[in-house]
Amino acid sequence: MTRKYDAVVVGSGHNGLTCGAYLARAGKNTLVLEQKSYVGGASVTEEFSPGFRASTYSFIMGHLHPKVINELELKRFGLEYYPQPNVFNPTEDDGIIFSKDPVKTQQQIARFSKSDAENYPKFFQRLQSTIEILRMLQMETPINPFRKDLIGLLKSMRFAWKLRNAENEMYNLMRSLSMSAHDYVSQWFENDLVKAKFMFWATIGGNVGPYSPGTAFYLVTHLVGQTGMSFAKGGMGSIAEALKKSGEAHGMEIQCDAWVQEILVRDGRTYGVRLRSGEKIYASRVISNVNVKRTFLDMVERSHLPEDFVDNVKGFRSRGMGFKLLCAVDRLPQYKGFSKEKTGTEYPAYAHICPTPEFLERAFHEAKFGWYSSEPFLSPNVPSYTDKTLAPSGKHVVAFQGGVTPYELKNSDWDKEGPQLVKNAFNVMNRFAPGFSESVLDYKLITPRDIEADINLPGGNSQHGELALDQIFFMRPVPRYADYRSPVKYLYQCGASTHPGGAVSAIPGHNAAREILADWRWKK
Ligand SMILES: Cc1cc2nc3c(=O)[nH]c(=O)nc-3n(C[C@H](O)[C@H](O)[C@H](O)COP(=O)(O)OP(=O)(O)OC[C@H]3O[C@@H](n4cnc5c(N)ncnc54)[C@H](O)[C@@H]3O)c2cc1C
Repeated sequence: MTRKYDAVVVGSGHNGLTCGAYLARAGKNTLVLEQKSYVGGASVTEEFSPGFRASTYSFIMGHLHPKVINELELKRFGLEYYPQPNVFNPTEDDGIIFSKDPVKTQQQIARFSKSDAENYPKFFQRLQSTIEILRMLQMETPINPFRKDLIGLLKSMRFAWKLRNAENEMYNLMRSLSMSAHDYVSQWFENDLVKAKFMFWATIGGNVGPYSPGTAFYLVTHLVGQTGMSFAKGGMGSIAEALKKSGEAHGMEIQCDAWVQEILVRDGRTYGVRLRSGEKIYASRVISNVNVKRTFLDMVERSHLPEDFVDNVKGFRSRGMGFKLLCAVDRLPQYKGFSKEKTGTEYPAYAHICPTPEFLERAFHEAKFGWYSSEPFLSPNVPSYTDKTLAPSGKHVVAFQGGVTPYELKNSDWDKEGPQLVKNAFNVMNRFAPGFSESVLDYKLITPRDIEADINLPGGNSQHGELALDQIFFMRPVPRYADYRSPVKYLYQCGASTHPGGAVSAIPGHNAAREILADWRWKK
């Protein structure tokens, strides 16, 4: 039987589901194809040890856009979350809380430096102004400022007009794009712990240490979310489940265990996909949620693509440097520097271990030369502290995101080196939470190679590709095709490879659907 749809979405990462759900709501007969046996991509919850479940990859829900939550009615379809407004940074004998509440954060900083506390409002204001402009830019379809036709000119003028009152914000954004995270925070702070606390955000998803130019942008972009840091109830997979249900309620179909081998193209336009099984599924629009390299280097026959486009896609840097370590434990980690009284917090379920800026930067040194950190920085989080569905009674899940682990090791491989990396991570954790390693009943290590193999994400970068100056906005994923379209007519992109990049924000999926539906109105 021949199957035919208005739209086929390749990949059921949360962006594929978001895009599919919007298309279904607009009345388009939509099918989402997923190579794994369940949906979610990097937004999944899996059992990693008998009785213990965790968010395998992404773990903090903070970026998911409120517009998408509301429009796709995700709460009605089961999304629930536990706010985590405090992040704890331990030292060996103390610790500091970064809180959503700026007054609380300022009081915490004052315990370590009076002048840093006085400067905190200035830092906060600068950060906030940059965040505001980024929030606005996130929802925009990037313009191509070099497009020479009338439509291009009109789009550029409309964009410039929107920014007419954002002079200071744009200057602040440009600063963050070019400064190192260390220089950025040093404008206001002198205390190492305070600096390191903010610099930690700059290490996520990047491939260079926070003393390198451009890393201030990572710091800002990781704080741009509007939902507030939270643990999704049931783990990040519940976000994907809610998106799935929302789409299905409007007729969206999902087929798992369906590896898309080829995106079919004839006379410069797509007309469907071919699965690994050989089956062809026809569609008037194909939307890829898969990483840009896999989409265009593996799924589309080369003769249909311009050479410079292919070269640009090949150049998209998608190697990751972070690891995940999921631990099943028989008790909560106890940080020796933690005090309820000093921090005003019941328990630090989310922490960043990075006592000094040097600690963070050093973790990148070995990775530059093909090795992993002997003292990795870590972000231990304990979702089971609030969410009892994740672990057996009395036991807990401690999930670490950490760095730095290159994709490729010099003269070795991850099968050989994995156990030593785990030891290094446990040694760091034991220093701040003594006895931690003895509480571990089982663990699962995930390196960039594992991420690549599991969700077909080449290089395993958590953002699909670095968020560096040459890979953002009208350069993401590649110049001239940052508007969710591609050189193939009716073939679109909707994943984290596109603007505004990685995170469980659903923004690429939302923006792509907007563009697809706009085209549909013009070209029947
Ligand atoms: C380790 C890690 C930690 C992270 N931590 C956080 C965090 O705490 N908070 C946060 O907001 N973000 C975090 N992120 C980033 C965030 O998870 C991702 O940016 C986001 O989930 C990407 O979603 P996506 O839908 O664009 O793509 P993906 O999730 O990559 O989905 C792509 C989908 O396509 C499928 N697919 C691939 N090839 C094929 C094929 N040939 N045929 C059919 N299907 C195919 C894949 O299986 C996958 O389901 C993290 C990411 C990682 C990897």
